[in-house]
Amino acid sequence: MDQNNLKFNKKKSENLEAMRKFAESYAKRTNTVFCSDVSITACVINALAENKNNYGSPLCPCRQYDELIAEVDSAYWNCPCVPMRERKECHCTLFLVPEDEFAATSQTQTIELKTILKNL
Ligand code: SF4
Repeated sequence: MDQNNLKFNKKKSENLEAMRKFAESYAKRTNTVFCSDVSITACVINALAENKNNYGSPLCPCRQYDELIAEVDSAYWNCPCVPMRERKECHCTLFLVPEDEFAATSQTQTIELKTILKNL
């Protein structure tokens, strides 16, 4: 593996870990929980990390964008997006209010890196 690939993979794993930690701390701070389907949590966190790799910002992965750079600059859909910050609305089901029918029954706000990797 060449030097550029090594750097890219290191950056990718650093961003994945950063997004995992962000998701855990943000769920705790907002009193929200992860989804009962752990593969959804894993895929959304991974996709946020991919967007951070590719665009420099954790742009919401559950939307289509016509103007990617403009979206990053506006920050509206940078996670946590404005609907989440204002109304606790996460259409990606990464952050759910505990009463949500899709909320994990264990009401978990934690996810391990190995769980993310196993569920991709
Ligand atoms: S809907 Fe908002 S809070 Fe949920 S993953 Fe997308 S950007 Fe993050």
